[in-house]
Amino acid sequence: MLGVDLGGTKVETALVDSQGNIVSSHRHPTHPEKGADRVIEDISICVDQCLSKAKGNARALGIGIAAQVDESGVVLSSPNLGWEDFPLREKLEERLKLPVVVANDVRAAAMGEWRFGAGKGADDLVVVFVGTGIGGGVISGGNLLHGCSHTAGELGHTTLIVDGRKCHCPNRGCLEAYAGGWAIAERAQEAVRAKPRAGKKLISLAGSVEKITAAVVSQAYHDEDPMALQLFMETAHYLSSGLVSIVNAFNPCLLILGGGVIEGLPELIKIAEEEIRRRALRTSVDNLSIVKAALGKESGIMGAAALAQEIIK
Ligand SMILES: [Zn+2]
Repeated sequence: MLGVDLGGTKVETALVDSQGNIVSSHRHPTHPEKGADRVIEDISICVDQCLSKAKGNARALGIGIAAQVDESGVVLSSPNLGWEDFPLREKLEERLKLPVVVANDVRAAAMGEWRFGAGKGADDLVVVFVGTGIGGGVISGGNLLHGCSHTAGELGHTTLIVDGRKCHCPNRGCLEAYAGGWAIAERAQEAVRAKPRAGKKLISLAGSVEKITAAVVSQAYHDEDPMALQLFMETAHYLSSGLVSIVNAFNPCLLILGGGVIEGLPELIKIAEEEIRRRALRTSVDNLSIVKAALGKESGIMGAAALAQEIIK
């Protein structure tokens, strides 16, 4: 199968065998400013290059994109590519003469962890990616949960604090508005503005207050900076509180945590585990394992390939 990860500046393609091994891969720039047809051409070139490297063929293609996608493969809205209601599946099938499945990139990444990563073999699992935003996927009884409009898995928009911090969605107080990478940066900048002397380390690592990011907090935490430690503990507490609700709601056997914030601060997993075991319902945690995602940046492309595998079964 072919797995494709489509972004606003580049497209990545991998030919993946049925065991989840990458046979060949290729990366190509995308040119969304030159119109949707040009992006279809970019994808097509990338696919051809990938296949010719492996001297192989593919039976189906899965593609993940940072956008809302409906079940017929229409991209409803993609700010990165400037698309509204674009029939991506239809266009690619026409061009590549292959069956194509289109998915939201985070859902595709959850699928990747399930089929080929830390969730291999499990039937009930929840994957939570804590990156700039927080999202994931729920697999229940061996099926990926899609929901009525195909957007199930927006786990970051679970309300944590009524009328709390403003989120990027219409709500306030979402888990993402406290523990997502953008929110960690925001909280860190506020803390530094309130106590500039205690924030000296963060300012010097970032260059200026506005440049403090979650990655800078992670770096300062590993340098044992007290303010970064405080931010870390608060983040752990927010994240764990959100995860308690998620675990109680879905009763997974496996909770997989991944994404840039977790990669930068893997220590969050242990604290989250302790807090979840203490605060979730006993029946929700009795058979629960909590693990780190295994595929890193490749989860999206692997998941897209796994989705392709599903349609040719
Ligand atoms: Zn939200």
